Amino acid sequence: MTFRSVPSLLFVSRALALILLTALSLVGPLATSAQAVEPVQISRDDTALDITATTEIYTGRGEAFQVSTAPGTDGIVRRIEVRAANPTHEGDWAVFALTNVSDEQIDRVIVAPHFRLVGSKIIWPDLGSQRILSITPSEGFALDRQPSDEADVFRITLNPGSVVTFVAELATPDLPQMYLWEPDAYKDTVNAFTLYRGIVLGIAGLLAVFLTILFVVKGTSMLPATAALAWAVLGYICVDFGFLSKLISVTAGDERIWRAGTEVSLSVGLVVFLFTYLNLNRWHAHLSYATLAWILGLGLLFGVAVYDPPIASGIARISFALTASAGIVLIAYLGFRRYDRAILLVPAWALILVWLFGAWMTVTGRLDNDIIQPALGGGLVLIVLLIGFTVMQHAFTGGAYQQGLFSDLERQSLALTGSGDTVWDWDVARDRVVTIPDISAQLGLSPGVMHGPARNWLPRLHPDDRDRFRATLDVLLEHRRGRLNHQFRVRAEDGHYHWLAIRARPVLGSNGEIIRCVGTIVDITEQRNSVDRLLQDALHDNLTGLPNRQVFLDRLQAMLSIAGSGETVRPTVLAIDIDRYKQVNDALGIAAGDNILVALSRRLRRLLKPQDTLSRLSGDQFGLILLSERDPAKVADFAEAVSKAITVPINFANREIILTASIGLVSWLDPQQDAASLLNDAELAMYRAKKAGGNRVEPFRPAFRTMGTDRLQLETDLRRAIERKELSLVYQPIVRLADAEIAGFEALMRWEHPKRGSISPEEFIPIAEQSDLISQLGAFAFDKAASDLMDWQLQTGDLPIFVSVNLSSAQLLNNELYNDVRAVLSKTRCEPHKLKFELTESVVMENAEQARLVLNKLREAGLGLSLDDFGTGYSSLAYLTRFPFDTIKIDKALVRDSSDKRTVLLRSVISMAREMEMQVVAEGIETEEDAIELGRMGCEYGQSYLFGPPINYDSVLRLLKERFPLMKRA
Ligand code: C2E
Ligand code: MG
Ligand code: MG
Repeated sequence: MTFRSVPSLLFVSRALALILLTALSLVGPLATSAQAVEPVQISRDDTALDITATTEIYTGRGEAFQVSTAPGTDGIVRRIEVRAANPTHEGDWAVFALTNVSDEQIDRVIVAPHFRLVGSKIIWPDLGSQRILSITPSEGFALDRQPSDEADVFRITLNPGSVVTFVAELATPDLPQMYLWEPDAYKDTVNAFTLYRGIVLGIAGLLAVFLTILFVVKGTSMLPATAALAWAVLGYICVDFGFLSKLISVTAGDERIWRAGTEVSLSVGLVVFLFTYLNLNRWHAHLSYATLAWILGLGLLFGVAVYDPPIASGIARISFALTASAGIVLIAYLGFRRYDRAILLVPAWALILVWLFGAWMTVTGRLDNDIIQPALGGGLVLIVLLIGFTVMQHAFTGGAYQQGLFSDLERQSLALTGSGDTVWDWDVARDRVVTIPDISAQLGLSPGVMHGPARNWLPRLHPDDRDRFRATLDVLLEHRRGRLNHQFRVRAEDGHYHWLAIRARPVLGSNGEIIRCVGTIVDITEQRNSVDRLLQDALHDNLTGLPNRQVFLDRLQAMLSIAGSGETVRPTVLAIDIDRYKQVNDALGIAAGDNILVALSRRLRRLLKPQDTLSRLSGDQFGLILLSERDPAKVADFAEAVSKAITVPINFANREIILTASIGLVSWLDPQQDAASLLNDAELAMYRAKKAGGNRVEPFRPAFRTMGTDRLQLETDLRRAIERKELSLVYQPIVRLADAEIAGFEALMRWEHPKRGSISPEEFIPIAEQSDLISQLGAFAFDKAASDLMDWQLQTGDLPIFVSVNLSSAQLLNNELYNDVRAVLSKTRCEPHKLKFELTESVVMENAEQARLVLNKLREAGLGLSLDDFGTGYSSLAYLTRFPFDTIKIDKALVRDSSDKRTVLLRSVISMAREMEMQVVAEGIETEEDAIELGRMGCEYGQSYLFGPPINYDSVLRLLKERFPLMKRA
């Protein structure tokens, strides 16, 4: 910048002023000079006056500039010409006029700052430069330039009443601001700003150094990124606060480069920080490339800044704005995904956005004051400070994962994240429950449903769990210690219940009250289900859901111990087996068979009272513990009802299936008996019922026992018994009631077991019946009885006595029976009418047709036929007329019956039998009165211990000789 010498300038202006004054009056319209300006009035009170607006700017006017002055006190407008000191001057001029309206001389400084952020624009910004090269007043000397790095400062003195027009030679076409300051005020303001700038600079410098040192101490990548940002900010405010020129000598042009450079580094710093802090490389590989490209692009800007600072600065400013916007999007996105770094950055980023808004308002000139620029500089430091805190928080708590430096807390929180459990946090003071991640998602509920007050959980809980849940929380709050370890069910959106387990620990506040309760909540539905399933499988039949055999026995045992302790409990056990169930399975398939079982189990369940138990013992076998009935008649009715329920037809695939069941029942009597043996007894009875053709209820009799445990052994023994001659016959007399004479004998088999002693036929006959042994036994009995009878007759003479032999069903169905009988008869030469067969009703009924054929043949052969044990089974005489019986043996149960109906029953049975011309034998008569009574009723014979027990061959012979002394002699 060159100045003309003051005298020459003065001379020129004076000379030209005069010349042009004349010219104006003569050739005014031809002049290309500027118009006169309106003077700004200056008084003593104006300490700082913005004269930017009242200053007129003229651009491209060449090195000689003509202008009309403001009219002076004399009202004359003069024209002056000013020449540029530098011939290469662009020709930009500024004109303003001042007038001292006071009556004193006024000293002022004109200040035009080199750089102003306000209105500097975003793209192609004005990065500052020298503004005013010199100022020439319309009168007096050119103004004195005051030393300043940041502004062009000129000192003026205005005399009272004077009007002075100033022409400023501009370095740039723009003059962002021009102030007229009271010199002392200006000095104070500069000083004040200097102090502020010093403080801000100091903080920024400390921050940058501190963060750099932190990086050295703790080498997480976050720290250098933050430190870089801090240094960038320091650089920026160094330039902005004019501190740079204090360090190195910079020209105004250099300063533009520096300014652009710091702006670029600021925007690079922000990108690098955001990328590093949010660990963007972990989220997506593309993000890394994009960021790297961005940073490289900004790096190139440093080069651009040297050649064209405004372009570099404009791009840097846009980049900064873009980074801040992208940052808020990323933070929002990652924050919603519960990325804690993102959440922690929210305050700092909010500040960045506010700053950005302020900067935009400033740069675009919407916000125009002198404080905003230093304030923005301070704001940047504040941002770095806040980011620094945020980063330090991470660096010292969770920032060292990669280094393997874990604190226990970090380890725990990492473990929790790793386990996939949900955090359950109950803020007790505010009564807010929060789960992280939201448990609502797992339950299919809309987000946040399970958040809020703890009581909000109650309606979602299973009704059975609500009170327990509430109570557990209450207890915890009251006791203020312990742990929450609670499992409960919560209804999911689909209506299913999920098992959840909360494990939490209370956190106590300073006053000892629980302020929160924090722990985990885990969905344990799977485990619970599998445990339940295991239990269910272990205890229940998985087809019908009924308790299995084990549970059944357990319950029965419990009942028995109650019954044993004298309570009025008398359990009855029913063993129910579906008849011919295998056929159903074969015909319809297993699946259908299963369905039928389920249907049957449902029917049976309906018959039960709450205290009764139904269980599936095996395949088609059910067990039932009956507690609700104790009276034998009622128990029998119940068993009948069970039987009926099963026989109700089942509709299946358009077919009607009728099933029957064999039911064995046993009522508890013996306190010594345990559950297993009681069930065993019931099953024995059931087998018995099955044996008898099924579809019947069979009460247990001790005789069934041998079918049980040692059955097999007995069967083996029985096989050998015949060869070893362990079997024998005893004979029980059948006596005529009228005169107590012997009418005949019933042959009863005896087995003298080598180890077990005598075994009752009630025990071994059923075994023989179930194996093929009964035919042998039967044949032996018939043969022996016939030959014994012949022997006696040989020794006593032809006595009018008969011997009856018991016949089992298996024998009856044996085709050989008739031939065997014929063979025996011919061998012994025994008269057929002296031999009788005794058959029970059930034997006959089991295969009625076959029975009728065989019996008829036997009858035709001359043998007698007795219907044994009449009164224990169906007892249908009418039915039995179809069979050729000649004798009925009334069972001892009926004879000894103590009820009122006994007489009626006996009388009708006897009279009916007589009408059908059958003889009647009463078994088990106990007293003579009974004998007489029965005799009167028309019963001819009796067989009981009263008349004589079963006796052996010799005793019979002796008895016969005693009773019939005359016969032999005759
Ligand atoms: P059952 O044919 O009704 O035979 C009568 C049973 O009553 C005999 O028992 C006899 O001892 C018993 N008895 C007779 N009078 C009285 C009395 O006053 N009071 C009592 N309480 N009992 C009396 P036992 O000998 O034990 O025979 C039991 C059953 O065994 C027979 O009943 C019969 O069904 C079967 N049995 C016996 N021997 C044979 C045989 O050789 N073949 C076949 N198939 N069955 C036989
Ligand atoms: Mg008999
Ligand atoms: Mg009998």
